[in-house]
Amino acid sequence: MDEFDCVVVGAGVVGLAAARALALDGREVLVLDAAEGIGTETSSRNSEVIHAGIYYPAGSLMARACVEGKHMLYEYCQDRGVPYARCGKLIVATNEEEAGKLEAIQGRAAANGVPDLALLRREEAVAMEPALSCTAALLSPSTGIIDSHAYMLALQGDAENAGAVFAFHSPVASGRVGADGIEIAVGGAEPTELRCRTLVNSAGLHAPRLARTLQGMPEDAVPGAWYAKGNYFTLTGRNPFSRLVYPVPVPGGLGTHLTIDLGGQARFGPDVEWVDGIGYDVDPRRGESFYAAIRRYWPALPDGALAPGYSGIRPKTVPPGAPAQDFVIQGPERHGIPGLINLFGIESPGLTASLALGRLVSDIARA
Ligand SMILES: Cc1cc2nc3c(=O)[nH]c(=O)nc-3n(C[C@H](O)[C@H](O)[C@H](O)COP(=O)(O)OP(=O)(O)OC[C@H]3O[C@@H](n4cnc5c(N)ncnc54)[C@H](O)[C@@H]3O)c2cc1C
Repeated sequence: MDEFDCVVVGAGVVGLAAARALALDGREVLVLDAAEGIGTETSSRNSEVIHAGIYYPAGSLMARACVEGKHMLYEYCQDRGVPYARCGKLIVATNEEEAGKLEAIQGRAAANGVPDLALLRREEAVAMEPALSCTAALLSPSTGIIDSHAYMLALQGDAENAGAVFAFHSPVASGRVGADGIEIAVGGAEPTELRCRTLVNSAGLHAPRLARTLQGMPEDAVPGAWYAKGNYFTLTGRNPFSRLVYPVPVPGGLGTHLTIDLGGQARFGPDVEWVDGIGYDVDPRRGESFYAAIRRYWPALPDGALAPGYSGIRPKTVPPGAPAQDFVIQGPERHGIPGLINLFGIESPGLTASLALGRLVSDIARA
């Protein structure tokens, strides 16, 4: 049986960041992915926003990894020439009740280590974004956007330069905890078995299922898996905004917000649609409710301007209606298996947090 020091399952942005950190730490790393290349699942189906770290509960892993990851990511993009823009974001209130919530959002952000949100009067916000209608707004100057594919390629390049090896079309089917390490069965065209000292389960939507196939993994340590699809609708006409625009959040979601890509193209969403399986079709009828929500802050949105875009699926560890989840990163102290590191529920802001999560994985692997 072939032996490796570390095997990382999943070449999404988080698996790539973990592989990079482990390889730079001097570890021998093999990355296995079921797909034909890097980042084909959630990592290429998101908003590509570098989040500031505003809304997450203070002290949560999400809050810490987002803020730390954001700083690391801006520096990384700068150093490695990954395209990005620190474009900023406006959180807009469209009535007095919403305006009353802006200070609390500012306070929560400050508690998370994001002290730079600025409260704007209506005229100040409209001077920045003339198409906007609002009563007040919060400006988040550290929110940005990134070319996530260029970023993933840079991570892969770093990992390979530090000696990591990638194998695609390599679905990990099952595993077993043995006396000399973790043994895994890899399917695909040329099935094989491998043994490793460290196994990083970074399989995104499939991570709970993969953990359950590991003989010896305590069942009660594996969270449930629910899927919350997020559908996007793209703006077909000219985008008048140069910053991201978010309404004041509603319970259970961020509201129908506008994000832009590095080419200036605007899209709205993602919404929240709980689904039973993985499928990425966007039902055009879901766009109907977008118009009224968007016109609260952009009254001039033309009729018929939205076209079904794409969708992504949030890996949830809690069912609909449950309190918000946190990222779950499990080392041996949680499940008792030496060398196993599971990553569960890595939904947004996983892209922003990726470098911080990668570092955390390599720290756990070193301990
Ligand atoms: C709608 C939406 C919008 C988002 N917007 C943002 C945003 O703007 N900013 C932000 O910071 N974050 C955002 N996120 C979150 C971010 O996209 C994710 O946190 C991140 O992409 C997760 O990366 P990952 O590597 O954990 O998972 P994935 O990208 O899903 O990668 C998992 C990989 O594992 C592989 N795999 C699975 N099972 C196996 C197996 N058994 N064997 C081998 N390989 C396997 C898959 O092929 C896949 O390549 C968003 C998420 C969603 C759903």
